[in-house]
Amino acid sequence: MQDYIIRATAADDTIRAFASTTRQMVEDARCAHDTTPVCTAALGRLLTGGIMFGSMLKEDKALVTLQIRSDGPAGGITVTADSHYHAKGYVNNPHVQIPLKPNGKLDVSGAIGSGTLTVIRDIGLKEPYVGTIQMPSGEIAEDLTLYFAESEQIPSSVGLGVLVDRDWSVKQAGGFLLQLMPGARDEVIDILEKRIAEVSSVTDMLEKGMLPEDILESLIGSFGLQISEKHEVSFACNCSKERIERALISIGPKDVREMIDEGRPVEVGCQFCGKKYRFDVEDLKRILAFQQKR
Ligand SMILES: [Zn+2]
Repeated sequence: MQDYIIRATAADDTIRAFASTTRQMVEDARCAHDTTPVCTAALGRLLTGGIMFGSMLKEDKALVTLQIRSDGPAGGITVTADSHYHAKGYVNNPHVQIPLKPNGKLDVSGAIGSGTLTVIRDIGLKEPYVGTIQMPSGEIAEDLTLYFAESEQIPSSVGLGVLVDRDWSVKQAGGFLLQLMPGARDEVIDILEKRIAEVSSVTDMLEKGMLPEDILESLIGSFGLQISEKHEVSFACNCSKERIERALISIGPKDVREMIDEGRPVEVGCQFCGKKYRFDVEDLKRILAFQQKR
């Protein structure tokens, strides 16, 4: 099934909601970075969150980057999503393996550790909008929930889930985001809080065969759910040899000269998607000449 996201409202537009399936997107990320299960889960959750952040962007060329800087063995995670339902991302140490939690689940917070979550929204203005929080859990969904409350003053509930199969492929992935808009009535908030506390995990719902529509129906169906948009989502990178070349230019002439002195082509991988670009000695000489002209 193709991954997709839906956008909806309920309770006379005082609830804004998103839900998505992202199995293929997370599987593509896993294959791009050869991640271990705990890193697949961590990256997959942040990618799924990223897709929902990205779908709130209105501007054509807008980008949102979610950046975790933390002290756990997996190191940080970076995800970038655009306003066209594409996301890309990477884990600093994608091959980390740590024991499961006592309940048999992947220990995402153990792999991430403690640190900060930064959200950078670039909507084409001179300065991007940047908000940072101290992560309360490292489980990502709770961290994004707190980000919305603290940084944007929007009461929200985020649910994210990635289920990794025995052969390390991605079996299920998806998530939801509910937000209370100004004017939400107290009784709506009370019922919603109760519903969110009762609801099973996102992976359980997906394992039962529930679609994003069903997930929102189970959460806010009684408030007059209205689905307004549905879009395909995917893991996609916009890298090119020119972009990677710009990164090489920025590392400085000393390193480029060393590569030239080695006398053989170098392969430089894109951080976000792992695609390899080959630069032969002639390319490197051209880059060095450009650096020296600056
Ligand atoms: Zn790339």
